[in-house]
Parts: sequence; structure tokens; C-alpha cells
Amino acid sequence: MARGDQEELSAGMVGPTGRPWPDLPAARPPRQGKKHGLVIAMCNQKGGVGKTTTTINLGAALAETGRKVLLVDFDPQGSASVGLGVNPHTLERTIYNLLLSRTIDAADIIVPTGVENMDILPANIDLSAAELQLVSEVAREQTLKRVLDRLRGDYDMILIDCAPSLGLLTVNALTAADKVLTPLECEFFALRGIALLTDTVNKVKDRLNPDLEMLGILGTMFDARTLHSREVLDRVVQAFGETVFHTVIRRTIKFPETTVAGEPITTYAPTSSGADQYRTLAREVLARCPDA
Ligand code: ADP
Ligand code: MG
Repeated sequence: MARGDQEELSAGMVGPTGRPWPDLPAARPPRQGKKHGLVIAMCNQKGGVGKTTTTINLGAALAETGRKVLLVDFDPQGSASVGLGVNPHTLERTIYNLLLSRTIDAADIIVPTGVENMDILPANIDLSAAELQLVSEVAREQTLKRVLDRLRGDYDMILIDCAPSLGLLTVNALTAADKVLTPLECEFFALRGIALLTDTVNKVKDRLNPDLEMLGILGTMFDARTLHSREVLDRVVQAFGETVFHTVIRRTIKFPETTVAGEPITTYAPTSSGADQYRTLAREVLARCPDA
């Protein structure tokens, strides 16, 4: 068995990160009663590391457990919207309008996706203007938090797809979030920039959001056949220890295909190993978030 075939792993066997595979419980159903909308920001200032892919597919895997999930597209590229078949460039109003106006109702901007239990707050290029426009606002770092806090009662989980930068938009995402999930591609230099990211997370925690916590680091685009991918993961585990998820997402052409199809891998190729990897990640996320 190649290291990385985690769907065939049982507890105690060596997992893809080189550590013993944990005894992961099955995904528990959502709590009954009032929803609390746990907010998780997918954050890495490097582009192309799997933030959007993880937002869409972790979101879909969590929605499969019966949880009500809201995805927040917070990148002016609008990739999360496009990846779910929503063309954000034809939309008149997006998250940008919610950020800059207090009179607009989020319900008018939220779009259902083709995935049961999963909605999205779309973004498009307008959002790039918000970065500048927010600078002159009072409490400019808390703008997204103000929007999302009002939506928490409607969702079990809210996932924010951050832009590839550490600018004001990402600071807004980190201020609005309870947890940070950092996708890291299994390539040389992946660790470059992580110190800067950690520094930003710590500054936001000190000054704006004391409850912010690192949820985990996720190895993505892992190629079990190459020594190189394994070496990178070993270094990530040496550096970050138990913060690193046991689940690793392997490289497969299926992910770019899902973007073209405009749907998550859990519906595009429900029995594929990529779908299973994101379902396993959902179990690991739930194990780390006992209240979600
Ligand atoms: P980011 O949001 O961090 O910029 P994306 O999620 O958009 O990164 O991924 C960048 C590109 O890599 C996209 O074309 C996506 O389809 C592809 N991709 C993401 N994850 C994988 C994977 N596990 N295997 C192969 N391609 C992937
Ligand atoms: Mg992206």
C-alpha cells in the first residue's frame, strides 16, 4: 500500500504523515437546537495551495453529515463561486455590497448551491475595491465579523475562502473566524511564508480576536509515489507536530475537473479517493471541534 491510501488505513498503521493513524470516530450528526455557526478561515497567502478546493470539498463533506454549511467567497477572483457553478461576474450584488452597506439583507445575496445543505455568499472582482474602501471605515477589521455574526444562528459551519494575501481582507477573515485551517502543498518551499502567516494569526489574536485558534495544517497535492512529497510532509510534521492533520489530500486531475463541472468532488465523483479524503478530513475537523 502506498503511503497516502488513508481510506484503507486502520488505527495504529503508519499514515500518510508518517505518524500512526488515529482512531477517528465516524462523523456525528449535527447538534439539535440552536445553531452556532463555527467559522473556519482557509488561509495561506500563497496562491494555488488548495484553499478554494478545500473550502468547497470540506464544505460539501460537512454538508453530507447533515450540517447546514455556508461558504463565504472572500477572494475577488470568485473561484469558490465559479467552482460551484455560480457565475459571480453576472451578479449585481455580492459580499462586497454586504460589507459596505448596513441596509442590505444577507438573505438577498446568499445563493443556494447544487449541494444539499450548502449555500454560498459569492464574490467577484468588486471585492478588490473593498480592500481600499474599508481603510477609512471605523472598525475596518471587524466588517466581515459584523456580517457573519448575524448569520451564525442559521448555519452549523461557516467556511471562509481567503484571498492569497495577508491584507485587510484576510485580517477581516481572521477577525471573523473561530479557527484557521492552512492548506499547504507538498512541494519544496511550501514552508516559506508560514512564519509570516503564523505571525499575522498571532497579531490578530492579540489585538482583535483573542479566541482565534489554529485548527490545523492540511497537506495537499500529495504524491505518494515521490520521495519528495513524503520528505516535505515529514518536515511539516517536524515543524508543526500535532497541528498537522493526519488526513492528506493527494494530487489528482479530478480536482481541476470538478472546477469545470462546477460541483464538489463528493457529487462529481462520489466514490473517488479524493472524495473520501475530504470526508476523512471532515471527520478529523469534527473530532477537533467537539461543539460543531
Ligand atoms: P488556492 O485557492 O489556494 O489558490 P486552489 O484550490 O484554487 O488553490 O487550487 C489551485 C489549483 O490546483 C486548481 O486548479 C485546483 O483545481 C488544483 N488542485 C487543488 N487541489 C488539488 C489536488 N489535490 N490535486 C490536483 N490538483 C489540485
Ligand atoms: Mg483560491
